Parts: sequence; structure tokens; C-alpha cells
Amino acid sequence: MQIIWRESADTATYEDARVGRVFNHRRPERFPLAVVKATCQEDIVAAVKLAAEKNCRVAVRSGGHSWAAWSVRDNSILIDLGNYKTMEVDANNKMARASPSMTGRELNSVLIKDHQLMFPGGHCPDVGLGGFLLQGGMGWNCRNWGWACERVQAVDVVTAKGELLHCNSEQNQELYWAARGAGPGFPGVVTKFHLRLNPYPKNGFRSSGYIYPIEMYREALSWVISISPDFDNDTEIAAISHYPDGSDEMRLFILFVTMKDEAEDAEKALRAAQDTRPAGCVEEWFCKEDSLEEQYDKQGHANPEKHRYCADNAYIQNDADVPAVLEEAFTTLPHKKSFALWFAMNPCSRRKLPDMALSMHSDHYFALYTVWEDAHDDPRCQAWVRNVMKGVERHSVGAYLGDSDFQVRKTKFWADDNARRLMEIRRKLDPQGRICGYLDEGDLSGTRGLDNAHQWKI
Ligand SMILES: Cc1cc2nc3c(=O)[nH]c(=O)nc-3n(C[C@H](O)[C@H](O)[C@H](O)COP(=O)(O)OP(=O)(O)OC[C@H]3O[C@@H](n4cnc5c(N)ncnc54)[C@H](O)[C@@H]3O)c2cc1C
Repeated sequence: MQIIWRESADTATYEDARVGRVFNHRRPERFPLAVVKATCQEDIVAAVKLAAEKNCRVAVRSGGHSWAAWSVRDNSILIDLGNYKTMEVDANNKMARASPSMTGRELNSVLIKDHQLMFPGGHCPDVGLGGFLLQGGMGWNCRNWGWACERVQAVDVVTAKGELLHCNSEQNQELYWAARGAGPGFPGVVTKFHLRLNPYPKNGFRSSGYIYPIEMYREALSWVISISPDFDNDTEIAAISHYPDGSDEMRLFILFVTMKDEAEDAEKALRAAQDTRPAGCVEEWFCKEDSLEEQYDKQGHANPEKHRYCADNAYIQNDADVPAVLEEAFTTLPHKKSFALWFAMNPCSRRKLPDMALSMHSDHYFALYTVWEDAHDDPRCQAWVRNVMKGVERHSVGAYLGDSDFQVRKTKFWADDNARRLMEIRRKLDPQGRICGYLDEGDLSGTRGLDNAHQWKI
């Protein structure tokens, strides 16, 4: 087991271990005591025990895609799982077992090629399963296939005391319940996810796209919101405002990605958008051949590496005037690489969720992904996000952990009873706060956890 201690390693080696795998290049001023590069479950057990011996905390990194770099914490031993990659597939039972640093692309490239199966992981190809699944996982076609964590049959966990446990609906239920929605406050280290898989469509994906001038924002967004609840069940729907490559004109891009075995069924599904779209697109396509691999490439392009990011998000109330609430966000982007997203969640948002920590959602998921390159733009871009969210948050029911930064904004992440139960489980299973937990302002939340309350009501 390789351990890089801050006090003895050369600066470049330590710095690479500290933040080299952190996606967001807006790097934090937080410094772990050591980084353990784990390659197996035994290394994780040993690292947790080492932290107990040194009386310090444990931080975890799987894919390194947390926007706020939750894995980089003071007074901690950071267990980096980047070199612990394993996956096994049981194709007959449509199941896979995978380590948390496996990414959506790594998992799906094997599943699709060898088994015609897929797992609805993160939209961006390089998001790690670890952080993604613990917070719920808004994966492919979430509005119909549900949350990715609903496909977690079991987890193997190293507890805060250093024991390795198998957790499912029959044994170690509290950890299993928390592993589906606690996010970075999970009181243990997941070493393996046991996942239920989906068939991958025989002929790949198909997509339709409609690109409108931003002046048509209200009309086009109202249209897509109105058709989404009754739209085909195998179709993911999103609206994005952005600057297309090389353009100075902001656009509203509405995308339907459908996942059907047969082309005729895809065409039938997508027809409901084609026949009702408002006139005035500057560009459009209908039922074009597409694939998960092509979608990954586009998502990777929209979220480039080595850039600075500030994300925030909200679940907008079901009865809100959504185009009015999101107008500032969608029409005043502060940088040409930034984008704003509305993601259809109905009908998933109207279903009763299984009994698990994850419990917050609405019909309308809204997120800001503010992207820039130069540190000089940090104050301007971050202030823009804060200001926009001030207007939006009063029309929200809460937010998704995965695109949040608890250092910046307080809101609700769970239903009240789920939040209470989660904080109790954390205190029971990790009374000393060995695992770092939620990174709030000053990193003080410890075993108390998050308040789960709207900022303006505190
Ligand atoms: C470009 C981009 C695209 C994204 N797209 C999506 C998307 O489509 N859908 C979506 O839902 N989210 C998306 N996200 C959000 C992403 O899912 C979260 O940031 C998630 O936390 C990343 O997981 P990770 O393992 O890569 O991150 P990490 O930074 O490695 O982990 C984040 C935190 O999760 C906890 N954690 C991770 N692994 C473990 C473990 N094994 N045991 C215990 N705790 C652990 C730790 O607290 C850790 O610090 C996206 C993020 C980015 C940057």
C-alpha cells in the first residue's frame, strides 16, 4: 500500500496525490496529512485503521468529480481509490459488481460490447461510481428508469471502525439505506457496488435536437415542459442554454435521446416532439442514429478537463412558472463555456421512492455549470452563480447533493424524516466522526451533519 505523507514527500509528489485527480481546476486550500493509494479492499481496511491510530479523519476519492473537491480535507488520511479497479459481470442475472472508481464509460464499454447491457451511470463519461451512486445518481433516462441508486442491490463497506461488511436489504440494513442517498456524509467507505443492469438497445440510441435563438427561450422551454410528462418512457429530455462552439450567439438547445431496440419505435416516440415543436429553430434534426459512446463524447466536450467550475442546482416546485423562474439563469450566462440545464424528471418525480435516504426531487431539475479557464474570472463567475441562485431558490423544494457545495449555500437535500434518520445513523455508526462527512463552511459539520433547511428560513 503506497502512502504519501505530506511531511516527508517531495512537493510535486504530494501535490499530485492531493489534487492530481480532482476534475475541477479551482483547487482547494486544504491539505490531507497523507494520501493512501489503495489497490484492494485490504488497503482500505488498513487505511481506516491507520487513521484511527493517528487520531485523524478519513477522506475518500473515487472518480474525483466532486465539484467542490470533497475528497480534499484537512487533518485527514485521503484514501484514493483510483488504482483500485475491478468489475465482474453476471450477464445471465443482469448483475455487475464494480469498485467505486470505475467510471460510467469504463463499465459500459465492457457491458455493451460483451453483453449488450448497460448501467445508467453519470452523463459525463469519467464520473466515478462512488460519489455518483452514494448521492443517488441522476443517470441516463432518470425520469423513467429512476435513480441509479435504485439499481444498487448491495454494497460492501469498510465501516468507521475498520470492519468489512456486506450490506443489503437483509443485513446491515442501516448502511444499505444510507448508501442510497447520503452522498459524501456516508459513514463508511464503499469498496464494491452490486448493480442491476439494463439491456442496451439493439440499435443504440436515437436523438432529436432543436436549437432555438435565445430570444425564443420562453416559448421553447414552455413547450418542452408541457410535453414532457406524457412523453415516451424510454426517452430522456433536457433543455440547455449555451454558446455553440465558435458562436457569439447564445442558444436554447432541446434534446430528446431515446433508447429503443427498433428504429420505428424510436421514430414513433420522437414524433410527439417533431409534430408539436414551435417554428423558428436555427437548426434541428429528427431521430438521428446516436449511441451512448457519442453522447459521452458530447458530454465530455461540454465539460472539458483542466477548467475551473462552479456548479449549483435546485429542484423547482412543480407548480412554479418555470420559464420565468429560470429566465435570468438561461439568458445571462457569464462565460461562453458555461451552460444552464433543465432536466425533465416527471414521471420518476411522481413515483413513491423505495425506502432509502434519497428522498428529494421534483418534476424540474435545474443546474448551472459555470465553466471558465482563467483564475481572474473566479469572483465574477462565482458571484453570478450566487446571485442567480438567490432568485431561484425561493421557488425550489430543495437540491441534489451531486451538484451542490455546502460551503456556499444551505438548502434541503432530503425529506425531513429521512434527514433525521440519516443523521442518527451517522452518529450511531461513526460517533467519533472518523469519516469526514459533509464539507460545510470551515469544515465544521462533523457528526452533526447538515441542517437540511432552506437558507432563507434559518
Ligand atoms: C463533468 C461532471 C458531470 C457530472 N454529471 C453527472 C450526472 O450526469 N449525474 C449525476 O448524478 N451527477 C453528475 N455529476 C456529479 C457527480 O456525480 C458528483 O460530483 C459525484 O460526487 C462524483 O463522484 P466521484 O466518485 O467521481 O467523485 P469524488 O470526488 O471521488 O467523490 C466525491 C465524494 O463522495 C464520497 N465518496 C466517493 N466514493 C466513496 C466511497 N467509495 N466510499 C465512501 N464515500 C465515497 C466522498 O465523500 C468523496 O469525497 C457530474 C460531475 C461532473 C464534474
